[in-house]
Amino acid sequence: MPEMTEPVFVSDQVDTDPEQLRILIQDIASSCRDPKVIQHSLLDLIRVTGRTLLSLRRFEPRFRTSEWPWLSGTRHDDITLQDANLFLCACILEQNAGKTDVWDNTAYFVHEILDDPENLWRSIILHSPEGWADQFWEYNLHPEPAVHARLREVASLMVRYYHGDARLIWNEYLENPQEVFKRIRVLKVPRSTACLVIGALKDEHYLEGWFDIVGDVVDSRVLGRIACGEGNGLTSYQARFLGRMIAAGDPWILDRPLYVLGMSYCGPGPRCRRCPVNERCVYAVSLELGLSVGTMVYEGLFGQKTVQKSLKNWL
Ligand code: SF4
Repeated sequence: MPEMTEPVFVSDQVDTDPEQLRILIQDIASSCRDPKVIQHSLLDLIRVTGRTLLSLRRFEPRFRTSEWPWLSGTRHDDITLQDANLFLCACILEQNAGKTDVWDNTAYFVHEILDDPENLWRSIILHSPEGWADQFWEYNLHPEPAVHARLREVASLMVRYYHGDARLIWNEYLENPQEVFKRIRVLKVPRSTACLVIGALKDEHYLEGWFDIVGDVVDSRVLGRIACGEGNGLTSYQARFLGRMIAAGDPWILDRPLYVLGMSYCGPGPRCRRCPVNERCVYAVSLELGLSVGTMVYEGLFGQKTVQKSLKNWL
């Protein structure tokens, strides 16, 4: 593992001077791969990235938290059983939903098709697995049959472990998102789904405290470019590691800026000209300067492949 394993504490009080990043990139490019010079510049590079992402949150409303149906406007000790279950159901259907509005679909399914059952999950498991699969087109919850099928499995686990009450997953764990994460994973949902639920609960103050970024393909791609200049992106472990370096107090605060950047500008083909951080992004600024620092930054942060095994254990 490289030396720089301590988190870098980033203040969100000031935005970054774009000239600082240009100088850092030039320093790294002219370092002749001297590890000491690179390590020194990396600390500042991480700070620049942190300030850039945090200032987006601070000054641009769409980079802040979003509103969550059935959670917004309620308190964790007020939410009804029905609304908590609706929220969890929609989160599960978000996986690979694309442009399908699973939130609307969930509401229609529960209110119109199931006629507001007392307990959503119990109502779902009244279907046999085969009967549930047969209703794929009729219920129209999600474009993929596999996700439709998963909802029936989750319903069964919800009844077995949480008496069909989503509130039991989080109610007693206000300051422990990690524990809630584990409790959601009991439902055998993907990591990204569990993170989505935690993020929403944190946004709505149902949960407080430290939590990792998702580290999915979008996070990895955007963080890889903005902090490392690596267009190929980071692994999920590396993205989470970097998230901890940048925002040691609570990496989750980076999640929304990364998501919005990734969905609006930083897709597989980045649209740097229109991107609001194009003067503070290692990838874009390196390109503009005609300098290639991606590999040096990446290796300075994560070391050679053999060293990366220890990173996996650490995370
Ligand atoms: S400037 Fe380009 S590479 Fe950097 S975050 Fe924006 S779109 Fe991605």
